[in-house]
Amino acid sequence: MNENSFICENCGKRVSLRAPGTHNRNHCPYCLYSLHLDNDPGDRRSVCRGKMAPVGKMYKKDGEEVVVHRCERCGFERRNRVAGDDDVEMVDKLPILL
Ligand SMILES: [Zn+2]
Ligand SMILES: [Zn+2]
Repeated sequence: MNENSFICENCGKRVSLRAPGTHNRNHCPYCLYSLHLDNDPGDRRSVCRGKMAPVGKMYKKDGEEVVVHRCERCGFERRNRVAGDDDVEMVDKLPILL
């Protein structure tokens, strides 16, 4: 583990923190899993550290697609921007949440 990459706890792939289209990569582009590390985006102050599964996607008013993650440990939900190199087939397969 270093500042520029992390190992995905779900699929085990190494993920670069530099992502096109977002300043703050918080999920794996291969399996879309995230980790419950933040209370507010980027603060890294959560004590939970559970895996956050991609449970669906939503469209914001401006049409931007966002992935909804839910923590498998505590149930916390968060919306995340889709990064430019996220696996589009994985994003396509997510159910659309209203
Ligand atoms: Zn992964
Ligand atoms: Zn959690």
